[in-house]
Amino acid sequence: MKVVVIGGGVAGLAAAYRLLQQGHEVALFEAGPQLGGLVRTFEVGGERLEAFYHHIFTTDTTIIGLIEELGMGGDLTWRDSKVGFFHGGRIYDFVTPIDLLRFSPLPLLDRLRLGLAGLYLRRQDDWRRYESITAWEWVRRYAGQRALDVVWGPLLRGKFGDQAEEVSMAWLWSKIHLRFASRGSGAAQREKLGYLLGSFGAYIDELGNRVRTAGAHIETGMPVQRIALSEGRVSGVVLGDGRTWEADAVIAAVPAEPFLRMVPPLGEEYERRVRSARWQWALCYVLALRQPLSHVYWLNMGDPDIPFIATVEHTNFIERERYGGLNIVYLSNYLEPGHPYFALTPEELDELFLPHLTKINPNFSRDWIADRWVFKGPNAQPVIGRGYREDMPDPRTPVPGLYLANMQQIYPEDRGQNYSLRLGQQVAAMAMDDRARSGAGGLNADGEQA
Ligand SMILES: Cc1cc2nc3c(=O)[nH]c(=O)nc-3n(C[C@H](O)[C@H](O)[C@H](O)COP(=O)(O)OP(=O)(O)OC[C@H]3O[C@@H](n4cnc5c(N)ncnc54)[C@H](O)[C@@H]3O)c2cc1C
Repeated sequence: MKVVVIGGGVAGLAAAYRLLQQGHEVALFEAGPQLGGLVRTFEVGGERLEAFYHHIFTTDTTIIGLIEELGMGGDLTWRDSKVGFFHGGRIYDFVTPIDLLRFSPLPLLDRLRLGLAGLYLRRQDDWRRYESITAWEWVRRYAGQRALDVVWGPLLRGKFGDQAEEVSMAWLWSKIHLRFASRGSGAAQREKLGYLLGSFGAYIDELGNRVRTAGAHIETGMPVQRIALSEGRVSGVVLGDGRTWEADAVIAAVPAEPFLRMVPPLGEEYERRVRSARWQWALCYVLALRQPLSHVYWLNMGDPDIPFIATVEHTNFIERERYGGLNIVYLSNYLEPGHPYFALTPEELDELFLPHLTKINPNFSRDWIADRWVFKGPNAQPVIGRGYREDMPDPRTPVPGLYLANMQQIYPEDRGQNYSLRLGQQVAAMAMDDRARSGAGGLNADGEQA
């Protein structure tokens, strides 16, 4: 089978890799200048680093297995996470049950309630129970109004903006449930987070090399403009430079917005499903500092006046010596599409963000800054609402031979490399299976022969 994979993010690469292993012919087209999509990297102090902070959890078995399979398991390191919560001008450690008990912004009873709500969710395996209630309402009801006001409300607002009150509890269940599973037992309950030394870009390079060596045609800087059809089924793609590339199957591993721009009409219902999730955009302002900002890796902001939702101090996770001794701090934001921050120049962002760093560390001074970068990622996080399972688009589109594989099909888990890799593999298997079952004709979304 001749397959075109659109998008060289981790989902597209995983699909291409598995198809090639089964002897299929693959061409992969990526619009951006490099492979990796949201896991793209840049260089700091002679070392590669993700433009958007990345770590993995011990429950991320697909990516762990793939890194092993690529012979890179020796570079995968597991470290204790250091999570904090910034509230009322100070940093509270926020990892263990003991930390929670010490979290004085909440009255003791509310701390206990918040902790018990987390423990309860940890023991619940059936996420379907949480599909019809929003996270906002569940937290208010079970952890209490004060826990919502002080802890969960600011976190949900930070990530989902004006849609914070709409997010499904199934999403929050998965975040808490899977995250607890990344912890040890006992009162200390330290969470382990994983990182690939040399950056996650290193496994993406290796995947890219394997895909190339297996004979795939890869082009970066080459957007697909539209899907070509012949007699109602996929016949290939039309590329940005006007070329047509023939294919028996096309896997579109791209977000909803570019997908809808390149496809023929797919019918009202399927298009409604693809549009059913709004996608937040990400803005990361990355600092390389001569001094550490804090002792915490992941510091959630509980103060609504601070114009970023977290500081992610990578060098409190991975040693700064790897980055020329510099301290790397991401200031993270998720914003609705087209938010005014995206139009600001780096200098305007300096003025917006930097005055707030003295709240976190009163000694912070601009001459600590050795370098800084701004990264913008449209289509970074789909917002999953109540009852989303009914709305989620099937990877098989109504056009035989055309498949969709993107983050809006990750549910109930929160999106992450692990699940994007898993989805890419699943959709590749689906395309191969359809081909095997139907011969050259392919199947449509209802599994009918075209
Ligand atoms: C701020 C941030 C932090 C994150 N933190 C973590 C983390 O800690 N751990 C973790 O595991 N995951 C994390 N993630 C999530 C992870 O990055 C994603 O789950 C994963 O990268 C998604 O991969 P993808 O292939 O589905 O999509 P993408 O990476 O979006 O890839 C889609 C690709 O399609 C290309 N494309 C679009 N249109 C076209 C076209 N017309 N023609 C050709 N190509 C096209 C795009 O250029 C892009 O490269 C984070 C993401 C963000 C934004």
